[in-house]
Amino acid sequence: MNQLLDKLQNNILVADGAIGTILYSEGLDTCPEAYNLTHPDKVERIHRTYIEAGSDVIQTNTYGANFEKLKVFGLEHKVKDIHQAAVDIAKKAANDETFILGTVGGFRGIKQEDLELSSIQYHTEIQVATLVEAGVDGILFETYYDLEELTNIIKATKRKYDIPVIAQLTALNTNYLRNGTEINDALQQVAESGADIVGLNCHHGPHHMQQSFSHIELPNHAFLSCYPNASLLDIENSKFKYSDNAAYFGKVAEQLINEGVRLIGGCCGTTPEHIQYIKSSISGLKPVSEKNVVPITKYINQKEQSSKKQNLTSKVKSRPTIIVELDTPKHLDTDLFFRNIKKLDDADIDAVTLADNSLATVRISNVAAASIIKQRFDIEPLVHITCRDRNLIGLQSHLLGLSLLNINEILTITGDPSKIGHLPGATNVYDVNSKGLTEIALRFNRGINTDGDALKTKTNFNIAGAFDPNVRKLDGAVRRLEKKLESGTHYFITQPVYSKEKIKEVYEATKHIDAPLFIGVMPVTSYNNALFLHNEVPGIKLSEDILAQFEAVKDDKVKTKELSIKLSKELIDTVHEYFNGLYLITPFQKVDYTLELANYSKSITSTTQEAIL
Ligand SMILES: [Zn+2]
Repeated sequence: MNQLLDKLQNNILVADGAIGTILYSEGLDTCPEAYNLTHPDKVERIHRTYIEAGSDVIQTNTYGANFEKLKVFGLEHKVKDIHQAAVDIAKKAANDETFILGTVGGFRGIKQEDLELSSIQYHTEIQVATLVEAGVDGILFETYYDLEELTNIIKATKRKYDIPVIAQLTALNTNYLRNGTEINDALQQVAESGADIVGLNCHHGPHHMQQSFSHIELPNHAFLSCYPNASLLDIENSKFKYSDNAAYFGKVAEQLINEGVRLIGGCCGTTPEHIQYIKSSISGLKPVSEKNVVPITKYINQKEQSSKKQNLTSKVKSRPTIIVELDTPKHLDTDLFFRNIKKLDDADIDAVTLADNSLATVRISNVAAASIIKQRFDIEPLVHITCRDRNLIGLQSHLLGLSLLNINEILTITGDPSKIGHLPGATNVYDVNSKGLTEIALRFNRGINTDGDALKTKTNFNIAGAFDPNVRKLDGAVRRLEKKLESGTHYFITQPVYSKEKIKEVYEATKHIDAPLFIGVMPVTSYNNALFLHNEVPGIKLSEDILAQFEAVKDDKVKTKELSIKLSKELIDTVHEYFNGLYLITPFQKVDYTLELANYSKSITSTTQEAIL
């Protein structure tokens, strides 16, 4: 058996604390790993101070030295050099008894990043190979938020090398990973994938780590490890700092040993002083071989919100369904807006869709409007949510608020950048894109909270995605639609289309897709409007014939409207040849247009249905 694992059979080993924290406190202005090449003496000194403080195990200064993170500093071509140098430095600092772990950090962070597993594996394997070849005593995978990423790389490493693997997850909650997996289950899976030591590091200080470990069983074929942060993060004089608590840290270390931890170190904010206190407080302790596991108190998620109304997906799958877009005003005189909502409601339209500051222009909050619509009318509000205006905290609180208001029809969109709107300097947040936002809403539908804990009630979101067929290559747009469908989008709403051919083309390109589409129709209101759409809106082209027809009646308002309605009706005829879903976009709050078109749609679809019957 390998010496490290052999030693752990009967002993507790003390690891080191943070390297980055010390370098930052000394004025580091690049990534800590760059110092392996430029200031190897400083890194070596930190290793030595940890060993002097009592670390039996140290880790290479390579946590963030992966391709993606080094790219930010223009160092992505130095991955191998940085790892090789890190092992050389650690070896210089180590004495004969010191174990050196080659550290590798996870790629997938707190945001749901779109990195493919295969690409992560490719880059991580280069790091692991360099560390193994340079002669480390074990590989430490740490700060992994994503279970799939971690188990995948453990398997790949164990297939190639006979070297101890220490694998640590990072959880934002004491009981669950972000995706709702119980930490105990997750660690058992990590052990089953081949890790020799499994545990947790980062995010939590010693108190919350102790809570986590109270729920963790001793794995059958692996040891437990824990590297807590020093404390919660505090802000003092605009600087982040951790509490000055080394003595306390040592005391909690003793409790962690009683929970079965055999390899104990420190993560962010910990210093050689913390390690000194751990060393002295655990001296004389022997590893435990059995423990009491406290079960997690579980909330039963059975109390689902029951909605008497059929959602739009099942409606449109079973019958012709009309949704109408009516955007909230830019001003506070809302009389006309709610009068129009009443007209749509009286006309038995299935839903009214409310954009979220579309074209990056400020309008009254669509949630406020939807909430009033819910109270006063029967028509269902469909609320658009853009990723532009809210960060991950705001988006999730927004979704929970919508659920509380029983507003369940949502459209997730990435959103137009602020540059195109009236406030070009406003920050574009984009913590996630529409796909990431859809995944969050679906997690809420499974009853899982933002940090993986129970929501106590499942949300009931029916999620729409946007589909723009007005592009040069429809294949690309269809592939994006397929991706949205894979991530869980329930149905799609298209941008307005202006030709029968386009509607047929969309049908042919999407008929293999098992999700309903609402086809957008927006009446052209005048010759000038036609010219604007044709010449200034990207992707939209009107035929020469249509432009000529509008030009011919341009001085006659009545005839212009008649033409507009006639052309829109022709489009609606074609929509209903292929689709149940019709999405009418109200031009300039002119709800009389949409009402006439909605009534027309109802008249032709009800006769079609009768004919079928
Ligand atoms: Zn940390």
